[in-house]
Amino acid sequence: MIGRYAPSPSGDLHFGNLRTALLAWLFARYDGGSFLLRVEDVDTGRSSRESAQRQLEDLAAIGLDWDGDVLYQSTRSAAYAAALNQLPTFECYCSRKDIQEASRAPHAIPGSYPGTCRDGGVPSGRPPALRLRSEVREFTVHDYFAGSYTGEVDDMILRRGDGDWAYNLAVVVDDAFQGVNQVVRGDDLLSSAPRQAYLASLLGLPVPEYVHVPLVLNKEGKRLAKRDGAVTLREMDLVEAKERLALSIGLQPASPAGLLEQFDPAKLSREAVVFE
Ligand SMILES: [Zn+2]
Repeated sequence: MIGRYAPSPSGDLHFGNLRTALLAWLFARYDGGSFLLRVEDVDTGRSSRESAQRQLEDLAAIGLDWDGDVLYQSTRSAAYAAALNQLPTFECYCSRKDIQEASRAPHAIPGSYPGTCRDGGVPSGRPPALRLRSEVREFTVHDYFAGSYTGEVDDMILRRGDGDWAYNLAVVVDDAFQGVNQVVRGDDLLSSAPRQAYLASLLGLPVPEYVHVPLVLNKEGKRLAKRDGAVTLREMDLVEAKERLALSIGLQPASPAGLLEQFDPAKLSREAVVFE
């Protein structure tokens, strides 16, 4: 197995991010596999090298190790452009507001692209985004916990109007480039797996095994976020944070090797963890 963790460097990792990273590491190493790191800095407005560096330090501080060099998506434009050239696309001039309004129509799936520019968009003066001309409306993937999962595929953005590469394209191209065949990540991303698997299939790339793990929630039952208080590693006591990470996975606090000895994916709880 080749697993990975791929954070976006737009701030310090919080407890939920660290738990997902630890799980990705455990799933990969449990199998005797490799574990890779990738910095998902395609969003040039929100990403910074300083933030990436702090995230790597935090991952090392909780005891994770990784194989090879860290891959930065900001260095991968040529690969994304090559992939884009292989895909059927069209130019889209819609603003976010246009899409929200169109997707309020009866029977529209909220947030999904309604196809406005598919047969020729009206230039707006803004540089257009490039969207995939999708030939399917849904796609089925296999997830370790969810089993067979069918989700929506729309005419997803591949390159934004501002020139930034879209997350979905970058993830698919880079997972294949790095040989990643096991994707462990938060279950908020399960709904994007069918889009990514469909893109991979169009590009002739293998689809990885998906393991979408429950998110860490705050006391109100919402996804843990930085506004929930002292939730980043740097705001917590390191020893206590490591203990709580282990306990949140149902393991007794131990060194990384000790955690690995205890880890059994079959015993992993599928319930979300509440951060108190
Ligand atoms: Zn459009």
